Amino acid sequence: MADFIIIGAGYGGLASGALLANSGFEVQVLESHVYPGGCASYFKRKEFLFDVGATTLSGVKADQPLSMLFDELNLKPDLIRIDPGMIIRMDGKELRRFSDQEAWTNETEQIFKIDGIGKFWDKVYKTDSIVWELLKENKLLPPANLRELVTLIKPVNLKGIRILPGLFKSFGSVLSSMQLKTTQKFHRFIDELLLITAQNTALKTPWTLGAMGLAYPAETYYPSGGMFRPAKLLEEKILSSGGAVRYKEKVVSVEQHKDYYFVKTAKGNRYKAKGIISNIPVWNMSAITDGAISNYFEKIAGRTGAAWGAVTLNFAIESAKELESLYYQIHTKEKVPHCHSQSFFVSFSAAADRLKAPVGWRSVTISLHSEAAQWFGLSKPEYERRKSQIKDAILKEFRAAFPEFDGCRIEHVLPGTPVTFQFYTQRHIGFVGGIPHSIENSLLKFPPNKTPFNNFYMAGDTVFPGQGTPAVVLGAIMVWRRVMGEKGF
Ligand SMILES: Cc1cc2nc3c(=O)[nH]c(=O)nc-3n(C[C@H](O)[C@H](O)[C@H](O)COP(=O)(O)OP(=O)(O)OC[C@H]3O[C@@H](n4cnc5c(N)ncnc54)[C@H](O)[C@@H]3O)c2cc1C
Repeated sequence: MADFIIIGAGYGGLASGALLANSGFEVQVLESHVYPGGCASYFKRKEFLFDVGATTLSGVKADQPLSMLFDELNLKPDLIRIDPGMIIRMDGKELRRFSDQEAWTNETEQIFKIDGIGKFWDKVYKTDSIVWELLKENKLLPPANLRELVTLIKPVNLKGIRILPGLFKSFGSVLSSMQLKTTQKFHRFIDELLLITAQNTALKTPWTLGAMGLAYPAETYYPSGGMFRPAKLLEEKILSSGGAVRYKEKVVSVEQHKDYYFVKTAKGNRYKAKGIISNIPVWNMSAITDGAISNYFEKIAGRTGAAWGAVTLNFAIESAKELESLYYQIHTKEKVPHCHSQSFFVSFSAAADRLKAPVGWRSVTISLHSEAAQWFGLSKPEYERRKSQIKDAILKEFRAAFPEFDGCRIEHVLPGTPVTFQFYTQRHIGFVGGIPHSIENSLLKFPPNKTPFNNFYMAGDTVFPGQGTPAVVLGAIMVWRRVMGEKGF
């Protein structure tokens, strides 16, 4: 009997699995798809490899989640630092998101001409660094019992009192209280950035989480060969530590017995383990469990509210042009049909990355937010019509935003919708990107990693601390620490 069955080979499942396997636990990962990575996975067309969703890795600085994970497992992924980590093209202007705070402040000062914008960025960076310090000093969050709560009583946590009100005030209200002479353009710039980081706009995102979201693109890495490559290293660690990762094994039920769990898959296979780590969204959990466990997940999934769906466009472009960054946010002139964001995020493969595209070509991934429910229940012709609309609209905006690619050949143009995400990742109505941060659904209310059931944990972007690979990996580290603590290591 395995120690743990891990449901899902996304970053959350593979990170917790690799840490546990490396610590001597027997783990078996069951994944419904044929590749690892989930929302950070890939697909191939001819000689091209495309990222399906996530493209940028961050949280790699010392004491941040990815660096803690790689150090603990002695893994050395091939990561290229990208600075500027993103270039924003808006209204014919270009803003380079430099890593250095002063350079970035100057850049925004020049574009928006707002007196005192430096004070704003100081506040953003200060809030971000306090949160990271608190996360470093507090190994288990949120506290699952009195013993864990007591460990929070220490001098360093007094700093937490300073950022606590920021969990209950909107980013927009704190910005207004700074009395900067902001413009409509500046607010759109902030909203579009918050949407891709905190998954919400300034009026709804809590200040503290918004500040972390705005600080986050300061440090951006490009994983050579695709976003799934570091995940693949985690898979290899599980295998080399005696664990197993089984593909095409969709879990359809988890039954609790006295001191073990029975897990059934769609193929009819049955697995037995002393514990469960589920890497699938909380929204998917009540359907594969029963009794008290199913009720528990139904209750917490009901509290989270809706999340975003994503529209994506992948294609290959023939161009050997040098680019100043590999990541661009494009403010669109017109709204892309059936999409919410008024910008899209473009990721190019590195010119020298032969694992993703042949010489003279790049593979491209574009993504936007879209309300998920509108994509389901459509007739086939209507669904195809909408896909074709988004494809044409995105390509038109892409061509307008990148005149440097005029005349370049574009091939393998492949749109993706929430239906695509649901099909490949099984995520409930294609909800991706985790639970949007909001005042009502503040971080303190996020579902915890530890469930009330014996040896049953959750990892992934719908549990604390939330969305994006750094947060998902931090959650996986917390699962590992809890298991180690509970087993008396
Ligand atoms: C378009 C887009 C762009 C993004 N960009 C970035 C970015 O640039 N940087 C960043 O850090 N983050 C980004 N994100 C967010 C990031 O991808 C996710 O937060 C993260 O990858 C989620 O990981 P996870 O392990 O929680 O879940 P998932 O990646 O969803 O993994 C869950 C896994 O479980 C499997 N599964 C589901 N149900 C079952 C079942 N019943 N049985 C077995 N297996 C099952 C799925 O197939 C999947 O492999 C982006 C997300 C999207 C959608």
